[in-house]
Amino acid sequence: AKCSKDGNFSKGDLQCFGNIEMNPSSGVLNYGQGLFEGLKAYRKLDGSILLFRPDENALRMRMGAERMCMPAPTTEQFVEATKMTVLANKRWVPPPGKGSLYIRPLLMGSGAVLGLAPAPEYTFLIYVSPVGNYFKEGLAPINLVVENEFHRATPGGTGGVKTIGNYASVLKAQSLAKAKGFSDVLYLDSVHKKYLEEVSSCNVFVVKRTTISTPAIKGTILPGITRKSIIDVAHSLGFQVEERLVSVEELLDADEVFCTGTAVVVSPVGSITYLGERVSYGKTGVGAVSQQLYSSLTSLQMGLSEDKMGWTVELM
Ligand code: PMP
Repeated sequence: AKCSKDGNFSKGDLQCFGNIEMNPSSGVLNYGQGLFEGLKAYRKLDGSILLFRPDENALRMRMGAERMCMPAPTTEQFVEATKMTVLANKRWVPPPGKGSLYIRPLLMGSGAVLGLAPAPEYTFLIYVSPVGNYFKEGLAPINLVVENEFHRATPGGTGGVKTIGNYASVLKAQSLAKAKGFSDVLYLDSVHKKYLEEVSSCNVFVVKRTTISTPAIKGTILPGITRKSIIDVAHSLGFQVEERLVSVEELLDADEVFCTGTAVVVSPVGSITYLGERVSYGKTGVGAVSQQLYSSLTSLQMGLSEDKMGWTVELM
């Protein structure tokens, strides 16, 4: 779907996946005026398809669009377009337990703009791809390295929204970490260089006894939809959850650490390396709390447990 700066998107069409035409002086190519989202569709045992909280992705895209000087589709348009795209591709939604259909909505300044300014025209599109389960055989712990040199976001920047430039800025730190054998990077705040922020594409949680702590949302970390859901699930299971400043030193005596995101759902952290020192969690790296939260959330997303929260949207 396209729209001018006035912000009213017309209803779009379905097109076969393929290259799209792009103006060389478009806002997205020249000034990074782009946002994306990510969500998944799961197949239930009865063959129907479940989306997980698509209205939350719509809302996050709208908040991001405000920061990036872009118009955005309404929640209704976003959810309708997502449903239409998934239904048109329903044969690509894997059978229960075999993965999911990853859905990637993109919003970009597609109009031509030579001098630095918001683009005069915008394009909203959605593409999908089947993806396997992130962990093929049960949960597998990841190994993180705390980053000291590079930062993902700074106060007043765009770290709190899902704009494409945030991902460009982490490519280097992530490649260096992967070359050293780490799964990903854990970023610290850029002011005090001591408080946890997040991983390149997921949020982080630290467990100490029955308390689960996670960095508070304050503009430099992405407000993850899995993060928000896990906080509610953890409360319902009787855990105490704290959203606050979490210092890097707390990693040293944590019982468990885990990450949350659409791709990984809940991913246990087996070890964290900080200033050359490696801290490992438990014997297997898969803690009981991470395991319990993973099972609770995935069974809800896959329609295996009752959706008391009203988070899933069923498509036939
Ligand atoms: N932080 C970043 C930087 C991300 O890219 C993502 C993935 N969208 C997340 C956190 C987790 O967000 P969500 O749970 O909505 O996928």
